[in-house]
Amino acid sequence: LVRRAEQQDTKAIQALDSAHYLHPFTDHGDLATRGARVITRADNIYIWDSEGAKILDAMSGLWCVNAGYGRKELADAGYQQTMTLPFYNSFFQTTNVPAVQLATKLAQLAPEVRGRKFEHVFFSSSGSESNDTNVRMVRRYWDLLGQPQRKVIISRQNAYHGSTMAGASLGGMSGMHAQGDLPIPDIVHIGQPHFFENAQPGESQADFGLRAARWLEEKILSIGADKVAAFIAEPVQGAGGVIIPPATYWPEIQRIVDKHGILLISDEVICAFGRLGHWFAYEKFGIRPDLVTFAKGVTSGYIPLGGVMVGDRVAKVLIEKGGEFNHGYTYSGHPVACAVALANLELMEREKLVERVRDDTGPYLAERFEELRGHPLVGAAETCGFVAGLVLVKNKAKRQVFDESLAVGMRCRAHCFRNGLIMRAVGDRMIIAPPLVMTREQIDEMMDLIQRCLDATL
Ligand code: PLP
Repeated sequence: LVRRAEQQDTKAIQALDSAHYLHPFTDHGDLATRGARVITRADNIYIWDSEGAKILDAMSGLWCVNAGYGRKELADAGYQQTMTLPFYNSFFQTTNVPAVQLATKLAQLAPEVRGRKFEHVFFSSSGSESNDTNVRMVRRYWDLLGQPQRKVIISRQNAYHGSTMAGASLGGMSGMHAQGDLPIPDIVHIGQPHFFENAQPGESQADFGLRAARWLEEKILSIGADKVAAFIAEPVQGAGGVIIPPATYWPEIQRIVDKHGILLISDEVICAFGRLGHWFAYEKFGIRPDLVTFAKGVTSGYIPLGGVMVGDRVAKVLIEKGGEFNHGYTYSGHPVACAVALANLELMEREKLVERVRDDTGPYLAERFEELRGHPLVGAAETCGFVAGLVLVKNKAKRQVFDESLAVGMRCRAHCFRNGLIMRAVGDRMIIAPPLVMTREQIDEMMDLIQRCLDATL
């Protein structure tokens, strides 16, 4: 009876959902026919739907529930701050204690790299807003230095930097550019360091990494270095399909931006807060960025919060030369969001989640993922900390991809859905980003499910 009642609820919710709710990134014709899966509750690394099915969430929601679901400490922190001060802005010379505490904490967590310090933070409510902030901040920086012609921001194809006009323009998703006349002016793109797709026959990872990085220099020279404001990139491309660059890529990018004096923006909306086994990913790759975008994992997704870590090169100019920077959001430094973020970072420290991913569960996930290389459908299997990607191929020996790459990913995703596993399909790549609390035993459980879904896709 209970089950029947739940099923009736599901149908009713799906009908209302389809009648009233415009979902992000969704084909509503498809949604109306099939009905959305209604997710009702969650705990640890699992979610449940309205039919009572238990699902292992290998995507941490949308790469964000780093501390796992059901963390009472985070709910308590939000409740207490709501009762004390639910909102006050930090415009016009006011501030609030959680925002100050969080800014201080982030400045302590962000490591200094080759003399570059990150002592200032600008808050927003999302990754998209943070990247909009970056566009305004880098252009303001060059204006203040008397070089207003430095406007162009270089990004990469297939990058994801958000969904606002500037975010979607910085991103390199052709499907997004096709809608709404994007990119906005002065944003251009270069190729991505995707070895499997873009390497030439016989080319080594190291050589390909250098070649891909030099696309940046070619672009700078074709535009004129004196017109280029910044280069933005994700240390590991996430939504584009977990594209992990060869080890030679980032050092060469750093050499090029340094040579031409161009600002470097590391978009760590996915990669920060333990995802790659470090608090910030620039540390892992030895990058020296000027600005670092963050969001998602800072609150483990319990409440929206994002921001930009502003390195001293930019902060000094904005503060000392700046006057008023006419930019900000009502919810910049929202006290409840900041209180939840603080509780989340403290929890992650207490449970040593970052170290666990770096030294224990991350290497174990890599070991287990390597075994998948033996599967007849798997052309490549790569991990970096707690992100991982598989390329599904038609013929391994010939590195031949499927003609209908979208179809194979969707087919595999449908098997995941049926088998109680959330894995994401990006074309013919299947990707995961599990909650950082996942144990070795749970990694084994996830790998069994992945294996089963791959077998079913064959
Ligand atoms: N930047 C990166 C690297 C992302 O992965 C995302 C979202 O997935 C964003 C920016 C946009 O963040 P939001 O969806 O919070 O606006």
